[in-house]
Amino acid sequence: MKMKDGKSDAAHYGALTRHLSPLMVWALSFGCAVGWGAFVMPGTDFLPLAGPLGTALGIAIGALVMLVIGMNYHFLIQRFPDAGGSYSYVKAVCNHDHGYLCAWFLLLTCTAIAWANATALVLIGRHLLGGVFEFGFHYRVAGFDVYFGEILLSIGAILVAHAVLLAGKSLAFYLQTVFALVVIIGVVVAFTAVAATPGGVALPRPAFSTSTRPVGQVLAIVMLAPWAFVGFESASHFAEEYTFPRRRAIWILVSALVASALAYILLTLIGAAVLPEGCADWTEYVHKASGMPGLKALPVFNAVETTLGRAGLILLCATTFGAIATGLIGQLATASRLLMSMARDDIMPHRLGIVNSRGIPANAQTFLVAISCLVPFVGRTAISRIVDVTTIGASIAYGYVSFCAFSVARRNGSRLVQATGAAGVVASIAFVVYFLVPNFWATTVFSTESYLILAAWAIFGLVFFHWIFHNDANRRMGKSTVTWIASLFLIFFASHMWMRQATGTTVQESIYAIVEHYANDPEDRGDDREFMDAEREEVRTVLNRNNVVQIGLVVVALTFMFTIYQTISRREREAAKARGYFFSTVSHDIRTPLNAIIGFSEMLKAGFPTKKETDEAVDSILVSSKTLLRLINDVLDLSKLESGKMVIKPEPTDCARLLREIVEALHIAARKPGLELRTSIEAMPALAIDPIRLRQITFNLVGNAIKFTEKGFVELRAGFSQTGLERGTFTLEVEDTGAGIGENDQKRIVQPYIQLESKISRHGGTGLGLAITKQLVEAMDGEFSLTSQLGRGTTFTISIPNVKISGEANPADSSSWGYAPRENAPAGAQAVSPEAAAALDGMAEVAPPQERPAR
Ligand code: ADP
Repeated sequence: MKMKDGKSDAAHYGALTRHLSPLMVWALSFGCAVGWGAFVMPGTDFLPLAGPLGTALGIAIGALVMLVIGMNYHFLIQRFPDAGGSYSYVKAVCNHDHGYLCAWFLLLTCTAIAWANATALVLIGRHLLGGVFEFGFHYRVAGFDVYFGEILLSIGAILVAHAVLLAGKSLAFYLQTVFALVVIIGVVVAFTAVAATPGGVALPRPAFSTSTRPVGQVLAIVMLAPWAFVGFESASHFAEEYTFPRRRAIWILVSALVASALAYILLTLIGAAVLPEGCADWTEYVHKASGMPGLKALPVFNAVETTLGRAGLILLCATTFGAIATGLIGQLATASRLLMSMARDDIMPHRLGIVNSRGIPANAQTFLVAISCLVPFVGRTAISRIVDVTTIGASIAYGYVSFCAFSVARRNGSRLVQATGAAGVVASIAFVVYFLVPNFWATTVFSTESYLILAAWAIFGLVFFHWIFHNDANRRMGKSTVTWIASLFLIFFASHMWMRQATGTTVQESIYAIVEHYANDPEDRGDDREFMDAEREEVRTVLNRNNVVQIGLVVVALTFMFTIYQTISRREREAAKARGYFFSTVSHDIRTPLNAIIGFSEMLKAGFPTKKETDEAVDSILVSSKTLLRLINDVLDLSKLESGKMVIKPEPTDCARLLREIVEALHIAARKPGLELRTSIEAMPALAIDPIRLRQITFNLVGNAIKFTEKGFVELRAGFSQTGLERGTFTLEVEDTGAGIGENDQKRIVQPYIQLESKISRHGGTGLGLAITKQLVEAMDGEFSLTSQLGRGTTFTISIPNVKISGEANPADSSSWGYAPRENAPAGAQAVSPEAAAALDGMAEVAPPQERPAR
């Protein structure tokens, strides 16, 4: 959650609304997992790899592996119910760098599946409607004929999905539910009907593929799980919109996985059930299918049409259309929520984070649709190469999410989730290695072009990161070199693999050409030498071109890495310089009150002539000691926060009462002519919040506001908006009409060590209060922001999302909520309360005695 302009997140960006029933979320989860591919993969992938029984077993085991990952999602949905899904978990548990890396690949994954479904209509048009959309200008991309008519069809589908999602808050999700039900019911009915015919489906023979051992075949299908089920986790992106308790998410994930697995298995069995004439068994059929005319090229469609005739075909078309629609609508909705979350963290342009008045992230969606409308121009083959990359994207996200679940569970002590987290990490690594390393476990599953697309997307991600990093005012990025080493490795590895595969293909083609050449009669084949020269030239040209591409990719990656590294090291140098400056200032600040204490103590020892003088000397010693104590407390707090050792202890707290007591304590201290201290604290339930830290934050902000405001008002506002059954966002704002802070200073003052010059001498204090406040808020997983105009006033805003509502507040009184105050209060303010006085610190700095007073 982020705030700007002093407004709450919801006020600034608009909020998603809670309108999704469990059935709707199931439809999203199932619909995103099963698309057009489920109707084609049995013939093209499943049956050739593992036969009907191998597929059924592999899919069932794959679904179980996904369930383990689903449990990790479920665990994190409870804790971070944010529309960013995996991205939100990773950013919260690891850091923003890792969050970005995960989001970057996840974004491609969601959108690529939406594109695949939109362009699948082209294939339906070709296979089922006799190519009625093959009109207008056309060209070839990667062996695929792209027709203008078909481009229009795909763009039309994308725009219709966009319009439906924009039309009404829930309309698209009702439709999604209807389509998802059509898919699962359609598949079950088609299977039952085919099975009921004489001969039926009853496990077609052979049960496994004949080429390899059955165990290997089952494993090969299991390894396709992230490809087959990707999208089932989309339920996590809608957690803010559930109308039901989030703990039910697990049942939605389970039922989506079961429905998806059932659909895959039944469609595979249907695909192997009916053979066209001339095929002895399904192995022969799937081998020849791609070269067969019309529907025979698609075993599932062929089986249904042969057994059930036209009615069956209409049923299957409706089912397929439902699958395409759910994939398109669901993934568009998912990707727009992910993009919206990234924009709210300033990773994407701010506008993309806005949610319209009907609770739809319309800008993010429109942006995605605009890009998606260009994609059909590259043709279906290129899109399917991009879709291959989604397996890696999904595996990266699953690995990260499992790691996050593991590390959160380790802190929470949940052993089951520790186990599922660890298992999810291992499975995800296995998936990535399986897909990326050809001929290691698998025959090549990643096409040559997919390696290039993966490398290009990783480089694009690095270039984009470079931009974000330079505009990252909050300095959240660039903290984890491991992320950048990992992406660099991915770029090197993928580009190398592409080079290897591409070289292999070129050489193989050349060898075939040579073999073919020499198979011809010496009379007819022309000059051998000329032919060989031409072949060599051809191979050399291709290799040179590939080399240039690979070196180009690596050079671009290294250049951007280098500039990122330069910025990081420059920032580190600046921080070290600032730290040095800070310590010299601190030493000076320690010396001043120490000198005062020593000087006055010596004078006391010598004795003062009057009681009044003695009292004044004791007061001065007290003030100086408190200044010292506060300085040391601040430095200790900051160092704890910076090293991540500050422990936040949420406990049931009556926040409204706590805040009112703070204002009460500050009331007398805020007595300045023409200054009003006011509050607007909404009623709120007891919240699980660390009362000591909340008190510290509030004292710092209100204390500063009073200190820097002469006339007008200081107002403390607080509220709580429920975002879930047991959770919500706590917000606190402190507005004043005081001196204000110049635009350039606004970023500086919240950075530790940097803001000291001139401040310390003018107002006293350490200049660390705001840095501590900001870091405390962040340690509580909240956001801190300020808006200010010089001479007009300042508003500080904090927002802590995901705060648990707790049963009853601890009946603690204000003293037990107290934190070690920044005690360097002026003696006069001491009459108010120790903390109130501390908050107004620095108003009376005591200079060391210059000389002993004359006796
Ligand atoms: P300290 O108060 O100990 O100096 P802080 O970190 O709390 O340190 O504040 C840093 C600086 O930010 C202050 O010295 C002051 O210049 C500025 N500042 C903080 N709060 C306000 C405010 N409400 N109005 C104007 N300036 C402020």
